[in-house]
Amino acid sequence: MNQSHHREVVIVGGGLAGGAAAALLAQAGKRALLFEREAGPSHKICGEFVSEEAQQYLARVGLDLAPLGGHAISRLRLVRGGQMAETPLPFRGLGLSRCVLDHALLEHAARCGADIRRGCEARILKSESGARVHVDGEEWGPEALLLATGKHDVRDLRRHLVKPPEDLIGFKTYFKLNQAQTKALRGSVEVIVFSHGYAGLQLVEEERANLCLLTDRAQFQQSGSTWEGLLHDLAHTSEHLRQRLYGATPLLDRPLAIYRVPYGFVHAPLPGDAQNMYRLGDQVAVIPSFSGDGMAIALHSAALAAQSYLCGSGSREYHRRIRTDVAAQVARASALYRFGRSAPGQRMLIPIARAWPKGLRLAAAFTRVPPAAVMRVMG
Ligand SMILES: Cc1cc2nc3c(=O)[nH]c(=O)nc-3n(C[C@H](O)[C@H](O)[C@H](O)COP(=O)(O)OP(=O)(O)OC[C@H]3O[C@@H](n4cnc5c(N)ncnc54)[C@H](O)[C@@H]3O)c2cc1C
Repeated sequence: MNQSHHREVVIVGGGLAGGAAAALLAQAGKRALLFEREAGPSHKICGEFVSEEAQQYLARVGLDLAPLGGHAISRLRLVRGGQMAETPLPFRGLGLSRCVLDHALLEHAARCGADIRRGCEARILKSESGARVHVDGEEWGPEALLLATGKHDVRDLRRHLVKPPEDLIGFKTYFKLNQAQTKALRGSVEVIVFSHGYAGLQLVEEERANLCLLTDRAQFQQSGSTWEGLLHDLAHTSEHLRQRLYGATPLLDRPLAIYRVPYGFVHAPLPGDAQNMYRLGDQVAVIPSFSGDGMAIALHSAALAAQSYLCGSGSREYHRRIRTDVAAQVARASALYRFGRSAPGQRMLIPIARAWPKGLRLAAAFTRVPPAAVMRVMG
């Protein structure tokens, strides 16, 4: 039989959303308990572009990014076939691996006083008295349960998607590029557009190159349903990617993969939702990845949830506010994403970006968490 415990706050998931919420609540004197499935630092599917707002949130949480050795990024390059457009970013981004960043944040939360338990997969059950957490035969009935488990649905707590996710597959791996290509990539994030998707390429700490790409299942199958086949075909389509990867050494045995990410999802509160449950990060909103702002949304939701819990306004008000803060941003990013995937959009992308470089900067600004919302939770 399960042993039952009480805790004011239990957080499930120790990514950026869960880690930041644990640190903020611990700083406010709450002994938050966090369960993370992975036993130690681990790789995640992510382009690892840390936007300026994400950096600001991490600073607000008290995490010093300087010793983590990220790579400063100030330019955006858009590449399609033999065409390229380049523009300075309206802010300074950072290339930093999630393996390093998420681990550093959990360690920081523990130093702040949060109880971090790694290697613990939690199950969530709804009951009359609200959502409860089960881990290894023990049960927790918290005042507030912060659900920060990332992109995929949790058993018994399916999200209500307006439409099914597209048949997209995401991959992420690292390469050590040759010296000339490392130099050429320094300071830039590159988005290489293909007919079936796109790849993001940038340096992270120790000048490793993060290659993160999205393609549809049909393209993957055409390439023989293997990573090697896909990479070969994409490098054949893009001379730019072929050059970048010439003489490069893969740093992972095989890439990480993810399937059917529900891009465009924003949680709409429902009458049956458990009143003690707060959805954070990708559990509350999933912005198309090209925007490089998923981490900022995750951190924003953590700060807002902590604030709502601490001031007693509750989960219903939290879900209303987070939706107000990010729904327009996610909708704009989704519209740009659809345009970029359409045949006319693909043809017009580079000519528009070349003729109107400010447009790229505007697109980057439009797909960020609105400054007023950031100010409200940063205080
Ligand atoms: C292809 C791709 C590229 C992206 N590139 C970028 C980018 O460059 N910049 C950017 O800002 N955003 C990017 N994103 C988005 C970003 O990765 C996410 O928005 C962000 O990771 C969300 O953080 P999170 O804390 O909600 O979830 P996650 O980071 O996914 O963390 C969830 C955690 O919960 C744990 N967990 C899951 N289930 C359980 C359980 N039952 N019990 C205990 N623990 C559990 C997992 O192990 C994990 O550590 C990208 C996304 C994709 C798919």
